Amino acid sequence: MSEVKEKLSSDELIKLEDKYGAHNYHPLPVVLERGEGVYVWDVEGKKYYDFLSAYSAINQGHCHPKIVGALTEQANKLCLTSRAFYNDTLGVYEKFVTEFFGFDKVLPMNSGAEAVETAIKLCRKWAYEKKGIAEQEAKIIVCENNFHGRTTTIISFSNDPDARKNFGPYTPGFVKIPYNDINALKKALNQPNVAGFLVEPIQGEAGVFVPDEGYLSQAKALCDAKNVLFIADEVQTGIARTGKLLAVEHENVKPDLLILGKALSGGVYPVSAVLANDDIMMVIKPGQHGSTFGGNPIAAKVAIAALKVIKDENLAEKAEELGKLFRNEVGKLIEKYNILKLVRGKGLLNAVVVNDSEDSSTAWDICVRLKENGMLAKPTHGNIIRFAPPLVMTKEQLLDCISIIDKTVAEFEK
Ligand SMILES: *Cc1c(COP(=O)(O)O)cnc(C)c1O
Repeated sequence: MSEVKEKLSSDELIKLEDKYGAHNYHPLPVVLERGEGVYVWDVEGKKYYDFLSAYSAINQGHCHPKIVGALTEQANKLCLTSRAFYNDTLGVYEKFVTEFFGFDKVLPMNSGAEAVETAIKLCRKWAYEKKGIAEQEAKIIVCENNFHGRTTTIISFSNDPDARKNFGPYTPGFVKIPYNDINALKKALNQPNVAGFLVEPIQGEAGVFVPDEGYLSQAKALCDAKNVLFIADEVQTGIARTGKLLAVEHENVKPDLLILGKALSGGVYPVSAVLANDDIMMVIKPGQHGSTFGGNPIAAKVAIAALKVIKDENLAEKAEELGKLFRNEVGKLIEKYNILKLVRGKGLLNAVVVNDSEDSSTAWDICVRLKENGMLAKPTHGNIIRFAPPLVMTKEQLLDCISIIDKTVAEFEK
């Protein structure tokens, strides 16, 4: 084999993935090679604004030097010990992250789905050992159109046919109610053996559905009255994305179980976590749950650095301010163009609904054209485009992106 390898083109790289990789994704036809802040570059050197941020994992911007620095420094020292031994980073991280979010304890995992699974296990065990529900009887209330990950248990309570079909038999013990329907929750809480209510403060994957104001705080109060754990999946909405550190803070809600992932590491490394107070977390004893990589030294250092960046760079405040600007500017485009129907969201988690039938390819076509014009966004369910740039964006950059959207959408108006 020759030493000097010719650089592969975008087309060649797409063909490689197509031939050798499972077809479990349908990516936009762009092949990225480098990222910095709000920008990514493809292998041909074309520059784009990233408006997906790896599903809100890259809130701190691509390759943030402080986070990457923490990673490389720790990687050269100690990567993994497993939890069979103590190490000099985990306890420091655990103190930091619990104080940061105001809980007694943390249980560290890697992916978001693993953290959701962890929360489900904690909730059930608490229900049997603390609440006194009879074994095998605990129920967890979930919402329609939820997205909590891809494991067999999690897809058991999804209602997305793609996520579910032919993956059964499904895990029992979940009760599904409509999202943003406080009466449905009230009713569901009246049945016996309810242990928890698992909810996304904003449904991101479903198309950035923001519940009515008061929904989360009322839901929390109803759960409290029934001694039911309020479990917030903030994997996508957390870590400053919606204009607060956590989306539940918009309604001053403190969850009993808090699930974090994605931007907990700034997208640099898979780091997820469940936070809870002692009365819940202490139901798990040695040997009852774990992960070889969960809370490893690199993850610990990366997460501390990622959270410091959120505070030091005031990213929650920036998300709040830029989000208002985004919705305001897109509102003007909606008035101007028939093809855009509405914009909704909080902070920098926003979606634009396209004025076409749900099964039309218009949202996809707009995303392909946005790509050609230097901006990467991805459609979600139905004819909806999610816009979620890194929070380190400047006002000037955001306005530049608005003009790209303006120009792109104009190409679709006839
Ligand atoms: C992405 C996501 C998950 C799953 O996280 P993975 O790291 O992909 O397993 C869970 N919940 C929500 C709300 C998410 O957005």
